[in-house]
Amino acid sequence: MPVSAAVPVAPPASDQTASPAIAWRVALPLPLPKLFDYLPADGALPAAGDVGRRVRVAFGPRSLVGVVTAVGPAESDGLRSAEPLDPLPLLRGELLDSLHWLARYQHAPLGEVLATALPAALRRGEPLPETRTWGWQLTEAGRTALPGLRAGKPQRLAMQLDAGPRDEDALDDLAPGWRAAARALERRALAERIAMPASSTGPARPGPLPNDEQQAAMDAVEPAGGFAACLLDGVTGSGKTEVYLHAIAACLARGRQALVLVPEIGLTPQLLARFRARLGVPVHALHSGLNDNERARTWTAAWRGEARVVVGTRSAVFTPLPEAGLIVVDEEHDASYKQQDGLRYHARDFALVRGRALGVPVLLGSATPSLESLANAAEGRYRHLRLHRRAGEAQPPSVRVVDVRKRRLDAGLSPELLDTVRAALDAGGQVLVFKNRRGYAPVLLCHDCGWSAQCRRCDSASKGMAMTVHANGRRLQCHHCGARQPAPRACPDCGGLALQPQGVGTERLEEALLARFGDVPVLRIDRGSTRRRDALESMLGTLGDAPGILVGTQLLAKGHDLPNLTLVAVAGIDEGLFSADFRASEKLAQLLVQVAGRAGRAARRGEVLLQTHHPEHPLLQTLVRGGYHAFAEAELVQREAAGFPPFAHLALLRAEAKHAEPTAAFLQAAAAGFADAGVAVDVHGPLPAPMPRRAGYQRAQLLLSSPQRRALHTALDAVVPLLHAMPEARKVRWSLDVDPVDLY
Ligand code: ADP
Ligand code: ZN
Ligand code: ZN
Repeated sequence: MPVSAAVPVAPPASDQTASPAIAWRVALPLPLPKLFDYLPADGALPAAGDVGRRVRVAFGPRSLVGVVTAVGPAESDGLRSAEPLDPLPLLRGELLDSLHWLARYQHAPLGEVLATALPAALRRGEPLPETRTWGWQLTEAGRTALPGLRAGKPQRLAMQLDAGPRDEDALDDLAPGWRAAARALERRALAERIAMPASSTGPARPGPLPNDEQQAAMDAVEPAGGFAACLLDGVTGSGKTEVYLHAIAACLARGRQALVLVPEIGLTPQLLARFRARLGVPVHALHSGLNDNERARTWTAAWRGEARVVVGTRSAVFTPLPEAGLIVVDEEHDASYKQQDGLRYHARDFALVRGRALGVPVLLGSATPSLESLANAAEGRYRHLRLHRRAGEAQPPSVRVVDVRKRRLDAGLSPELLDTVRAALDAGGQVLVFKNRRGYAPVLLCHDCGWSAQCRRCDSASKGMAMTVHANGRRLQCHHCGARQPAPRACPDCGGLALQPQGVGTERLEEALLARFGDVPVLRIDRGSTRRRDALESMLGTLGDAPGILVGTQLLAKGHDLPNLTLVAVAGIDEGLFSADFRASEKLAQLLVQVAGRAGRAARRGEVLLQTHHPEHPLLQTLVRGGYHAFAEAELVQREAAGFPPFAHLALLRAEAKHAEPTAAFLQAAAAGFADAGVAVDVHGPLPAPMPRRAGYQRAQLLLSSPQRRALHTALDAVVPLLHAMPEARKVRWSLDVDPVDLY
């Protein structure tokens, strides 16, 4: 449970000459576990009500923005002064309490935690932004120029604005990718950004009549019932979003705010449009496509209580909710909820902490719940709400496993797969070909001497890391450190010309599918082809409902709803079957079920074809015969036997340096610290990281585990402050990951 920040009361005035000055205790964004005392620059007496205010201070040669976290007697004389940035506390109440909890739980400096919770613009000390709704309109010059504009995105946007000003939310729905076009028009003074008059977005539209299971789930989530964690465990297309919408509408009707977290890829214009139409109130989005001002504006609108519904990705979990009523976490199993650098928080877990502190329900939804959440549900800590069937007319897809051992493959594709694709296209459907490997081919090999292209800066446990072939064989790229170089024409070892890409990535699949199915569009969707946020949406927009092929990586496992997708062909997942990471099976099972779930979401029955060299693998057998829950049960048994989460609690201390010695010295000192702490936790290591060298850095780690969460944290409480003070710590980059999602 979060506890309040300690706020000592100022001593009576008569004592003031004898006792130390009353100071602001300020948390600064520094990797140091301490607070710093300052006096208000305006000469005011620090008061308890100042806690949570932003202040600007001089720190050596730097100017830093910190937050007042307590008021009390100064620990030394000769204090410097701090300039307050806001008249009121910015971080207050539940959010401030929860952030204190997070700092303790992550064993992270409070100043870093508070800085992480603020949007970048506010972290830099910019004033609280205006929060009116903004829109765009044509200028006089724009209206005059409109008939003569060259065809293109700016021209299309100008035509839309010709009907009158549009607010930015409406443009997100009407014209994905409009921002660049608007800026182009603005540069030529043809359009301008204006504050829109306040308006509601129209009447809320009713949804479909819920089926029995949906109704039971809706009844179980009581917005007025205080904190409860509910796991909405429903197959893809079972109508989970309808349950969210019902709960949000009930929350709004009680005059409360709702926060909805979704994975980055799930926050589509489609989803926002559905929410806006159904709820009839402005829906504020928070995602990586926004600039700093836009993010700060939404954060502030929530802080002021103006934003009633906020839909956002991971960092939206820090949204202030002065009138909270509900928190929803969609796709709660998604790995993107875990921050992988800096403050390594888990947004789902922090959402639960906040929900408890706020006294509001937290609804976790997924078709493939994390093993943690399933275990919590089994132990009665979460209400387990199941949706077994697809909603409406949609049927579950049929699944077929194709054994491709000894088959002749064309770019990794079996004749069965190609025939099934042809049949689906001929029937007018769309096809998704899934391969979890970006690039053209995973290896460039010399057939004369056996040389292969390796990254100079990375190593895996036993060997070098192959560089992936890109750009049709012309470029090499390391997917671990990002290094790029042109592919050699001749073998650097033997000078031979027999260099050949080995294996298949999405680029090569695209090439092979284009050669064979040239009569339909073939769209490749992976991080290489959709770097820009709107790229995916506009690619799918051009496809429409016409027959065509999407080929891609896990980016395709969710997001944009494709009603005409009738076949999902899984071209390769075999690499994932033999990974050493303890969470690899869970991730692979989730990925397969999510990708398969994209088939046949509308009236037409879907089909899933899975080709593999390992049809007998237990994971595939269990998944195909028993479904995700059978897999999860079997996997939980294995986790328990191996002493892994959710049956143990882990923390991973990572360290890296240019040379191996300082890393080893630091981790050995840390291991000794844990041994001395006298708390019963298992200390594994120091061991080399699964990738012992990345981007030229030597990497090692210390894994701590305990069946009791409390024991783990007692040990960390004792040792982490020592780590900060160790001389060995200054020679390495180190980080602590509490509840790591993987051990890399
Ligand atoms: P999920 O979030 O579980 O993937 P959705 O809520 O998006 O599922 O629902 C899938 C589809 O089924 C949507 O098109 C939705 O409008 C439709 N749907 C949901 N509930 C019902 C219902 N009770 N009756 C008819 N159609 C429904
Ligand atoms: Zn060679
Ligand atoms: Zn590399």
